[in-house]
Amino acid sequence: MIEKKIGLLTILFFENLLRHQEIKHFVSTRTGGFSKYPYFSLNLGLHVGDDPENVLKNRRRLATTIGIPLNHFTIARQIHSGNVTIIPEESKGKGCTHHREAINETDAMVTNVPDICLTILVADCVPMLFYDPVKKAIGVCHAGWKGTLKSVALNTVKTMEKAFGSSPRDIMVGIGPSIGPCCYKVGPEVISQVENVFQTKKGYIINEAKDGKGYFDLWKANLEQLLHAGIDRKNIEMAMRCTSHNPDLFFSYRHQKADTGRFGIGITIC
Ligand SMILES: [Zn+2]
Repeated sequence: MIEKKIGLLTILFFENLLRHQEIKHFVSTRTGGFSKYPYFSLNLGLHVGDDPENVLKNRRRLATTIGIPLNHFTIARQIHSGNVTIIPEESKGKGCTHHREAINETDAMVTNVPDICLTILVADCVPMLFYDPVKKAIGVCHAGWKGTLKSVALNTVKTMEKAFGSSPRDIMVGIGPSIGPCCYKVGPEVISQVENVFQTKKGYIINEAKDGKGYFDLWKANLEQLLHAGIDRKNIEMAMRCTSHNPDLFFSYRHQKADTGRFGIGITIC
């Protein structure tokens, strides 16, 4: 990833996606916004208890900074599922100013319609962007432990195959900043589900302690899922940046141990 200071904001970009002029994408950070602690300062989430006026000012500032109109931002009401929604032209801009209008009950969105900026909001969950330059289709998803075990990343690829005729070999993926295996401690109830889904916990759960707790490597779990879906390893760029380890740059639910804001990851066909 590369990090750029644009105006007051710090924005991150995936190098593999920057090579394609016909799309725009971004990963926002928490700096340069209007919100007060614990949402300080570029909180993009309207659903986390922050002053909505500040959130809208933050969203407008981000939109202007990256050159994507706010009414192109199409936002999901995320529920930690494996659900993927195909976004048609008429859903463009849903949720950009009102949370109740966001795309309901989905954790991934795909489209081939230009000028729809598929946007996911996170604070530790693994956000992922997808682009198929052959079929000109895009996707976005997020995966915490629940979404990872429900195969939301795999489902996103499958939906692109079905809806747009995408071939996984052509799809570029960016795996964004999220909680790393250094910080993501989980209990035995999660570990046993990891073992069920992946047929092993080896490599997925590290540093397991006597109390039955261990650290879940969401990055590896989602990488393996994408490879299983047929994505070429050389087309996957991983941020490898832990949100909990970088609380000045990213919102982290685990680090803040309470209310926090959300940063965003988005992609649009121009
Ligand atoms: Zn960490």
